[in-house]
Amino acid sequence: MKLLVLSCCAPCSCAAIKHLVDKGVQVTILFYNPNIFPHAEYERRRKEQQKLCRYLGADFVELPYEHEAWRKQVKGLEDKPEGAERCDVCFRMRLKQAARYARQHHFDRFASVLGTSPKKDAQQVHRAAHQAWIEEGTPYWAQSWRKDGLSELRMALIEEFNLYAQQYCGCEFSQKEYEKNNQNNR
Ligand code: SF4
Repeated sequence: MKLLVLSCCAPCSCAAIKHLVDKGVQVTILFYNPNIFPHAEYERRRKEQQKLCRYLGADFVELPYEHEAWRKQVKGLEDKPEGAERCDVCFRMRLKQAARYARQHHFDRFASVLGTSPKKDAQQVHRAAHQAWIEEGTPYWAQSWRKDGLSELRMALIEEFNLYAQQYCGCEFSQKEYEKNNQNNR
């Protein structure tokens, strides 16, 4: 199977890539994350993702970092908490692009690791991906990357490859939320 996997970062994708490559799946990681802010953080996560792909034998492709276009999409939702409506829009934008890229480049299916972290609602990601499937026509492969020992594998690979694990989801609003919560906990 020729599979395109939308990834947000190396830590969330490491177990999925290892698992799939070991099973003989032809994996291409798509890095399309216009949500990440600031640009230096985007670069850091992208480089880490590329390094991981090299280590594990997956292909890597990147689409442009269009943060202004992303900001327009989430306009009016800036103050929503992580997990709410802003994230719906963010997931839909990125997954639609992944479904489109997969169709244009003749992948059998697309998947994503956006719901890997226990902090994420995997069903919210699956719903956005199914919408992208309807709109772009590329079948979505809904997987859980937390079951069957994959969470343990993830932690082991993060340690083995010394992967950079960021403190906030990605956008400037999640960064502010993280900093506020951190201050309150001091
Ligand atoms: S918190 Fe994460 S998923 Fe939600 S809008 Fe920001 S970057 Fe996207």
